[in-house]
Amino acid sequence: MLAGRSGNGAKGNIMKRIIRIFSRRTKATPDDELAVVGRGPFLWDEADEVHVSVTFTWDLPAADRLARLWRPVAPVLIGGPATGDGGGEFVPGMYLKNGYVITSRGCPNHCWFCAVPKREGKIVRELSVKNGINVLDSNLLACSESHIKSVFAMLAKQPGRIEFTGGLEAARMKPWIARELKNLHPKQLFFAYDTEDDLEPLRAAGKMLVENGKLCNTNGPGRGRLLGRCANTLLREGRNDE
Ligand code: SF4
Repeated sequence: MLAGRSGNGAKGNIMKRIIRIFSRRTKATPDDELAVVGRGPFLWDEADEVHVSVTFTWDLPAADRLARLWRPVAPVLIGGPATGDGGGEFVPGMYLKNGYVITSRGCPNHCWFCAVPKREGKIVRELSVKNGINVLDSNLLACSESHIKSVFAMLAKQPGRIEFTGGLEAARMKPWIARELKNLHPKQLFFAYDTEDDLEPLRAAGKMLVENGKLCNTNGPGRGRLLGRCANTLLREGRNDE
């Protein structure tokens, strides 16, 4: 599943002029005037603080270089998943483009290849639910039922098509979640399929979505999609079982 980005205290950030530095641009990189990608300061750049945000460990040397370049402008903080930052409250638009949202941090699972439990904690922290349409939580379905329902309620009010690109854990799917997902008409959902052990839960989740949600039609135009390739395979297999 995808890792999240951290935000600092929202109130403090509102009052300060913070330039955020990113070593590379991705689809999720903010594009406002205070979001800077891969460059040092220009003469007119002014800030109270500079935050260098690093998602990928291979970008750490570039982040160090950028931090040195920006030190004459303002105090520089380096953070982000690559630094082991566990993440605090999520601030929309701060380190991720508006539309992306993180409502929880941490994961109670112990997948050997994943840094999330070490970085964000083995106990899921439920954050206050901010607006967004693309949910990036590391393991949303490990949250309490009331939190998941709050997230779905927030999503139901948003004008855009909903996506769950952070990945959902198939083993935690339940019929009521499938029904709620149906009502959200998501554009796409991702389920983790990292090891062979994930296959049976994926099959069960696929069936649940087909039976309760009827959103999973990978062929029809405009229908919700259950991704990625492994989940599509599962879905076909689930249908064959019917
Ligand atoms: S389910 Fe596994 S891969 Fe996904 S966030 Fe938790 S520990 Fe990481």
